[in-house]
Amino acid sequence: MATVIIGGGIIGASTAYYLTNDTSVHKSQPVHVIESSSQPFSAASGYAGGFLARDWFSSATAALGALSFDLHKKLAEEHGGAEKWGYMESIALNLDVSEHAKRRGGSRGDDWLRVGTSRADAASKSHEAQISPLDSAPAWLTKQQYGHVEVISNPGTVAQVDPRRLCEFLKDITIERGVRWHAPVRVLSVRKDSETNAIEGVVVLNSESQTESFIPCKNIVICAGPWTQSVFEALFPSSSLRLRVSPLAGYSLVIRSPRHSLVQEQQTYQGRSHAIFTTHPRDCGFSPELFSRHGGEIYIAGLNSSTIPLPSQAEESKEIMDREKIQDLKRVAVRLMGKLTEGHNESSADVPNEDDLEVLREGLCFRPVTDTGRPIVSRVPDNALGSGLKSDTSAPGRERGGVFIATGHGPWGISQSLGTGRVMADLVDGIKPSVNIDALQL
Ligand SMILES: Cc1cc2nc3c(=O)[nH]c(=O)nc-3n(C[C@H](O)[C@H](O)[C@H](O)COP(=O)(O)OP(=O)(O)OC[C@H]3O[C@@H](n4cnc5c(N)ncnc54)[C@H](O)[C@@H]3O)c2cc1C
Repeated sequence: MATVIIGGGIIGASTAYYLTNDTSVHKSQPVHVIESSSQPFSAASGYAGGFLARDWFSSATAALGALSFDLHKKLAEEHGGAEKWGYMESIALNLDVSEHAKRRGGSRGDDWLRVGTSRADAASKSHEAQISPLDSAPAWLTKQQYGHVEVISNPGTVAQVDPRRLCEFLKDITIERGVRWHAPVRVLSVRKDSETNAIEGVVVLNSESQTESFIPCKNIVICAGPWTQSVFEALFPSSSLRLRVSPLAGYSLVIRSPRHSLVQEQQTYQGRSHAIFTTHPRDCGFSPELFSRHGGEIYIAGLNSSTIPLPSQAEESKEIMDREKIQDLKRVAVRLMGKLTEGHNESSADVPNEDDLEVLREGLCFRPVTDTGRPIVSRVPDNALGSGLKSDTSAPGRERGGVFIATGHGPWGISQSLGTGRVMADLVDGIKPSVNIDALQL
């Protein structure tokens, strides 16, 4: 029986992958992905940093996070992820510039994001503390007065991908397996069988050709990121269920530095990435995070806003970028990665670094954030749909049918994507999820 996935970001792509994977006995049943944007991956999944962690999560998502991290590693090993989507092992560092080095205390899960501190506060506390001078940091990080770094990850527990290239890989491989991706298309309504009240299919509209068509299906998975609440409301207007998913905007830059190259990446750092988290410079008002990514690129983000309204289409984000915010982020990039001015050293704190960085891409995108801080990975009970729809509880596997939701991964959607796709496929197939997701159910 067919499954329609609404939202073609990393969660939708991962779900399509595991619905058609050898791990599912129903893998040959039809799967459709409905994506409203004309350009693929123009939302957060295409503009995220791509940092992956195994054990930086609160207890509610710890099992899902670990499963997902292991699936990322496995997928990369099986499909040449190092080349295809820049999968690399990483080392996470906290950069501190206070005169006296101190260890961080912190909160786990997404709390750091909600209280506006650094992601480093979520790091597993099980690593051996190693506070070192900046010499142990990568050469692309400019020396800072009083700067020292603390390694905040254990070997093999953090990694890096280029999320857009990973999404493209997932899209291509699912197309090879027969999944149909429809874009720019939106779902207008759900049609039900008048006798059994079971889902019969969805009516969709192609916004380019303005043509309507019908896709038969029994299962609907909604994973439209920060748009999930509005998609759900449009399809189930009589439901009183409120998902409470809101958008948290984030600016980012992809940068090239003369102090980082493919050769350094391969030879000096042996193909490893560095993830650097800091609250420096204090006066910038946010907590920068920097990731070196495959191909000698460096990604910087951390400048967030909860007041920018979510555009109706992901690709419209480009038009609403605030140039001043981009400049603020660029200034911080130069402070952290620019060239030390000739004749000065890191102790000349008042001398600005030279801007010799090349900006390859500017980004603004929206994380889907829930008010509990936990993602929602769940079947929607029939009685919460408010439309009289009924799944066939006596039917096996995907025949049972129903509506499912996977969203609200906040700052961790890339890291937790494959695990989420895997457990969504389990839920649709009507089997016990690969890991316990009780705390993520509606
Ligand atoms: C600046 C920044 C940096 C980040 N860095 C990291 C990181 O390093 N590591 C990490 O793990 N996470 C990171 N994240 C978080 C991560 O990007 C998100 O959690 C993740 O991309 C969410 O994926 P998604 O598929 O749920 O949503 P999205 O990527 O938003 O995809 C949802 C899709 O649904 C589509 N859609 C919307 N409405 C409809 C409709 N009506 N019909 C059909 N389709 C529709 C959208 O066009 C979109 O393509 C970062 C986020 C930001 C903002």
